[in-house]
Amino acid sequence: MRYAMAIDAKKCVGCSDCVVACQIENNVPIGYCRDWIVEVTTGTYPNLSMELRSERCNHCTNAPCVRCCPTTASHITDGGIVLVDENNCIGCKACIAACPYDARFVHPEGHIDKCTFCNHRVEKGQYPACAAVCPTKCIYFGDTDDPNSEISKLIKTRKWKTLIPEAGTEPNIYYLI
Ligand code: SF4
Ligand code: SF4
Ligand code: SF4
Repeated sequence: MRYAMAIDAKKCVGCSDCVVACQIENNVPIGYCRDWIVEVTTGTYPNLSMELRSERCNHCTNAPCVRCCPTTASHITDGGIVLVDENNCIGCKACIAACPYDARFVHPEGHIDKCTFCNHRVEKGQYPACAAVCPTKCIYFGDTDDPNSEISKLIKTRKWKTLIPEAGTEPNIYYLI
């Protein structure tokens, strides 16, 4: 089992519904977010193109945030989801320094917080909140170890990229391009 997300960068309209849904579903404190929208413009005028991307923790297979955690609060579940056990987290911020994606923040209660792939919903067979609300249905979620899953088929048939692959973290969010 290897949970992953595929996000169709051609279909994202940058509406931020995914950001709002995450904040409500996960009770994210005001002023913080577990996911965010990035706008990248490339080319030179008048030949410009723009990509809108919904970003969050990449649930890396080779996660430096997990390796550096002195208390094992940051850990990887059997399905490959990277989680933080807030009761074990001492707020040392080593994982924040180690993450190349700036995906973590210090929760006002003192522990580290970040995207959980909505593990509590996934355990019930539901889509993560951000994926469930996306009006253009551009966020796909599933098991890449299952060759018959929708996400496996997308990754096989579409062009994709991951973010900062040179960091060697083996991200599990695929941007369909
Ligand atoms: Fe893009 Fe979907 Fe998020 Fe809207 S909800 S910003 S379309 S990923
Ligand atoms: Fe850790 Fe950052 Fe990778 Fe998430 S994106 S698993 S916080 S290194
Ligand atoms: Fe937020 Fe859940 Fe989406 Fe992660 S998977 S960004 S926790 S809504």
